[in-house]
Amino acid sequence: MIYLNLLELDLLNLLDLLKLTDLKSFIEHLSPSGEIPMTFEVTLDKSRQMYEKAKTLIPGGVSSPVRAIKPYPFYTASADGSKIRDLDGNEYIDYCLAYGPAILGHNHPVIKAAIKEQLDKGWLYGTPTELEVTLAEKVAGYYPSIDMLRFVSTGTEATMSALRLARGFTRKNKFVKIEGGFHGAHDAVLVKAGSGATTLGEPDSLGIPANFTKYTLQAPYNDIEIMTSLVEKNRDDLAAVIIEPVLGNIGPVLPLPGYLKELRKLTKENDVLLIFDEVITGFRLAMGGAQEYFGVVPDMTTLGKIIGGGMPIGVFGGRREIMEMIAPSGAVYQAGTFSGSPCSVAAGIAMLDYLKEENIHAKLNATGDYMRAMLSEIVEDEGLDYTVCGIASMFKVFFGAEPHNYQEVLKCDKEGYLAFFHRMLASGVFLPPSQFETNFISAAHSEEDIEKTLEAYMENL
Ligand SMILES: *Cc1c(COP(=O)(O)O)cnc(C)c1O
Repeated sequence: MIYLNLLELDLLNLLDLLKLTDLKSFIEHLSPSGEIPMTFEVTLDKSRQMYEKAKTLIPGGVSSPVRAIKPYPFYTASADGSKIRDLDGNEYIDYCLAYGPAILGHNHPVIKAAIKEQLDKGWLYGTPTELEVTLAEKVAGYYPSIDMLRFVSTGTEATMSALRLARGFTRKNKFVKIEGGFHGAHDAVLVKAGSGATTLGEPDSLGIPANFTKYTLQAPYNDIEIMTSLVEKNRDDLAAVIIEPVLGNIGPVLPLPGYLKELRKLTKENDVLLIFDEVITGFRLAMGGAQEYFGVVPDMTTLGKIIGGGMPIGVFGGRREIMEMIAPSGAVYQAGTFSGSPCSVAAGIAMLDYLKEENIHAKLNATGDYMRAMLSEIVEDEGLDYTVCGIASMFKVFFGAEPHNYQEVLKCDKEGYLAFFHRMLASGVFLPPSQFETNFISAAHSEEDIEKTLEAYMENL
């Protein structure tokens, strides 16, 4: 829903928007009582109509819960560079960027060319390809912790398989996840899991027997003491600790100095595998992800999002002795019809090469620094007790004090944020529709985009 002030609107545009043909019906439409209000609602007509239909066919009208925006989401017609356009022809500067993958912006010509080239050769074989070997070699080059890896189709599959493998390798059952950490939507990890669940106020899901999560332990982020006692107490049956190095799905919430290094030391000393879920941070913070950025080497890593260039993908990898336990070389089973899908892998190769050759992260991280600095100034100038957080090309204005864990994130003013989200949308800026979701910057965002965005923050905060 977008609220427009009548005085600011050109009348003819308005008639056009409302699809009303004459002034009489226009006035009647505005005000059956004959009194013309100063402010009224203009709906995104086509999106609203699409939503009415969609919700009869698709639960909630969306294919993934984070996309549900109250009262209804805009339905996208196309996207290009930093801009996303809806069915009604509105255009927004996009900081959601498909929740992370579109680090070069939408519809990037280099990625598109790689996909087109692959399309001409066919897009699904069910046989191994040279493409997979090429991408695997590149990933192993950027991530020294990854000797071997396997391709899957989503981040969800990657963490599901990584956890199974960690359990198979260690012959232990339990794992620790971080409260508010999101690792996809499979049974074992859907406990206090990130923005979708958190925004909807349903930290757990129906349909998951309690027995399925009895091996899932929770620890608050950034608290090495609680983690230490949990790991030491459970070490005999503890396979792994899985963590987003930067909590991206409720944040970004950053690790306190030394936290990840201490976690590495703790897990090593207790014979527990450390899994970095870098589905967001991989190729976002640096080519070598958070592990390069913070200088911490995990035993296993999961990747997704950026590494597919916008096509569906997931990766899990790690030390050779662990990875060799995966079928067919080992006894931990894992399989997928679309695993290593040629278009995804071709897009991924093009993405990695472009990021590296164009030194994209230097430019992006500088834009991120600028954005955070300017936003901090705006927040201060407006005298708000809000906080600007972020790292590299991730940022967020938290409507509250800087959070260091899930419980602190929950204290932020999420209703206030949602109202702000709608004001930003009306100003032509699309932020992720939740206080608990990271904003991303792409290489396609121009200086003009950034300045317009800062103006919109200034107006709407
Ligand atoms: C998005 C995400 C996943 C799940 O990836 P999908 O491709 O959506 O299944 C897993 N872990 C993290 C950290 C993510 O951000």
